[in-house]
Amino acid sequence: MPNAKYKLRKEDLVQVIAGKERGKQGKVLKIDRENGRVIVSGLNMVKKAMKKKSQTDRGGIVAVEAPIHISNVMIVCKKCNKPVRAGYKIIDGKKKRVCRKCGEVL
Ligand SMILES: [Zn+2]
Repeated sequence: MPNAKYKLRKEDLVQVIAGKERGKQGKVLKIDRENGRVIVSGLNMVKKAMKKKSQTDRGGIVAVEAPIHISNVMIVCKKCNKPVRAGYKIIDGKKKRVCRKCGEVL
């Protein structure tokens, strides 16, 4: 399976571990596996100028999430309550993603 190293999935709660947003948490909105980047809800906001699309649209400056490099985020284990490394474990014959620290299914 290509890109298996990216254990993140949509809706995962992640914490930023590097850069200016370090320590902040958010939900994964989008994963760009090709470029190894993720969009995390409310994080790494950048101002973007929007063009007027119609008469009623005022355009202007909006804040949007910019992609964060996937290596700069880690999944948050709800049990450990901190960013952890994820691993895989076979539970009841199924491959589950687990916290490497406490074994909790993520
Ligand atoms: Zn854990």
